[in-house]
Amino acid sequence: MARMRKKSELPSKICPVCMRPFTWRRKWARDWEHVIYCSVRCRGAAKTRPAKKI
Ligand SMILES: [Zn+2]
Repeated sequence: MARMRKKSELPSKICPVCMRPFTWRRKWARDWEHVIYCSVRCRGAAKTRPAKKI
């Protein structure tokens, strides 16, 4: 019933750490281009564990 809003209005990316899509947030308004990870936690995880070859 209340599905009038389009989520696609906001840009989104997929976090390379948790592989989940995340959408634009206001706190990222300044540097959305540079946002890679969905959260600080994932960013930290990426640093701690360098990408493994799968
Ligand atoms: Zn993530």
